Amino acid sequence: MHETPLYNCETLNAISRKVIKSYDASLLFSPKPIPVEEIIESLGLIVEYQYLRKNDRVCGETVFDDAEVPIYDMDNKCYTTIIVRAGTILIDARLLKKGKEGRLRFTLAHELAHWVIHKKVFCGSFDCAALVKDENGKIEKISSEADRLIEKQADKLAVAILMPIALVKRAFYQLRGNYKDNDQIITKLATLFCVSKQAMLIRLEEHKLI
Ligand SMILES: [Zn+2]
Repeated sequence: MHETPLYNCETLNAISRKVIKSYDASLLFSPKPIPVEEIIESLGLIVEYQYLRKNDRVCGETVFDDAEVPIYDMDNKCYTTIIVRAGTILIDARLLKKGKEGRLRFTLAHELAHWVIHKKVFCGSFDCAALVKDENGKIEKISSEADRLIEKQADKLAVAILMPIALVKRAFYQLRGNYKDNDQIITKLATLFCVSKQAMLIRLEEHKLI
């Protein structure tokens, strides 16, 4: 079985900068929403929106090899399959609804993170067990502990991509001069980076800014 590499926060921040820089280095100069879908497409990956399951349990899936994958056919109310090419990121179409932008961008960044750091690891979804290939190419389930670590790493890299810490800090200190209330600052920052307030709060707490 392939070892799953574990990266510390600093390394994940460095990886995120590399990913952003190779798309457009100027994005690291001033705080603005990171165009995550454009970055994904610039890497030659395909983003496709489908109803992934009957309910909204699965937000995204990255397909590492050409595959036939299940999707839910909303019109006929049944599961069906589609053939997708390697390097396809499937996103649940429900995330295109108004008000879901933060969730959508986080899901895109999470799947991009899998592509960047888990090329040999198959991750079904946020809460599906991850699958890996052994030396013979056979797919097997990995332990839930390893699965949890893989998901956590993808989440951390997603956070680093959407909220580059140097930019968050700069914007935070600027806003703190004008606003006293933490909630106002979080709201402003969330809008500035186009992420959910919850995601921004976690980023700020992580770096002991609030
Ligand atoms: Zn995942």
